[in-house]
Amino acid sequence: MLKVTNVGKTYGKFTALENINLEVADGEFLAVMGPSGSGKSTLINVLGLLDQSYTGEYLLEDKNYKDVNDNELSQIRGDQLGFVFQNFKLLTTYNVYENIEIPLVYSKKKQNKKHEMVEDVIKKVGLTGKEKNRPSELSGGQQQRVAIARAIVNRPKLIIADEPTGALDSKTGKEIMEIFTKLNQVGTTIIMVTHDSEVAEYAMRTVYIRDGRLYNDEKSVKNHD
Ligand code: ADP
Ligand code: ADP
Repeated sequence: MLKVTNVGKTYGKFTALENINLEVADGEFLAVMGPSGSGKSTLINVLGLLDQSYTGEYLLEDKNYKDVNDNELSQIRGDQLGFVFQNFKLLTTYNVYENIEIPLVYSKKKQNKKHEMVEDVIKKVGLTGKEKNRPSELSGGQQQRVAIARAIVNRPKLIIADEPTGALDSKTGKEIMEIFTKLNQVGTTIIMVTHDSEVAEYAMRTVYIRDGRLYNDEKSVKNHD
């Protein structure tokens, strides 16, 4: 799915990522753990083609998108990637259906096909009957279900989730993780940032980030203290 080689990132004099090497296979479910400020968001911004000002090489499905312009990048993100955030990032004036339909707005698919795709993901995340509700009328867990449905409606190859359970109580968080597990079981590759080791257990593999460096296990992080 993706390969990161010697990736580095600085903000002025501050090194946010240093010599990152990471390969993620098709169908993997990877958790990225690390303390606040360690570089997790910076890393997933690179992986999600949201940040192009890094050093080193990043290949997504063997392609390098470094010299691609912003318009094309938005297109590629829309077609190939799905994003889920801690704070859901739903449009408050849109209802559930309209939020989920957003990634399909510029798609050339026929209207009835789009309708089928939206209803299909609404069912998958368990929100049937809530189509006309606004986000403010939903619980946090339901809002995150909307965000997940929006992320998967285009059937992306890769889902990038940044603290998807961070704003939820642990029971609701588990329900959300069960949705991710199911998506992964049907072949979707998932990269998820989390602070929570219980949440990370849903993943197949965990990597750790500390002061902008990536480690394959917790022990090697501690050995660098
Ligand atoms: P995490 O997601 O692990 O909390 P981030 O990737 O957001 O960490 O940030 C890593 C480090 O880079 C932090 O010290 C943060 O303050 C710094 N940082 C992040 N974004 C910027 C920015 N736009 N300008 C300057 N420093 C930044
Ligand atoms: P997260 O909750 O994912 O760790 P943050 O709250 O650290 O995210 O950062 C939110 C946004 O602010 C990000 O886009 C990040 O790049 C930016 N940011 C973080 N730290 C700094 C900083 N020291 N200076 C400028 N921008 C920053």
